[in-house]
Amino acid sequence: MHEMAICQGLMSQVEQIARDKGATRVEHIVLSIGPLAGVEPELLSRAFEVARADTLASTAELEIETGPVVVECRSCGAKGGAKVNRLLCPSCGDWKVNLVQGDELLLMSIEISGIPV
Ligand SMILES: [Zn+2]
Repeated sequence: MHEMAICQGLMSQVEQIARDKGATRVEHIVLSIGPLAGVEPELLSRAFEVARADTLASTAELEIETGPVVVECRSCGAKGGAKVNRLLCPSCGDWKVNLVQGDELLLMSIEISGIPV
């Protein structure tokens, strides 16, 4: 499962950050997933429940935010929201657009605890 591999990559990233800060526990993880990232948030949450075992984030909560799809027109330069299955310029309707946002998978923030004094 594709989501599982993403989750494992994410967990090592999260653990790295937590260790760098000397934390012993990760409480909360916030992810931002674009609608075009090719990732099912529901499958990712399920993969997370498995991937978090035996890590610093074994009791962490995963929060997934889905961002908008934003395109920039190569004809008229307009920038704006577009539908996932209809990537057209919001201003002139041209299909020659660049994707500005929508296919990202970003670790937004993590909350850690157990930092030794
Ligand atoms: Zn346009």
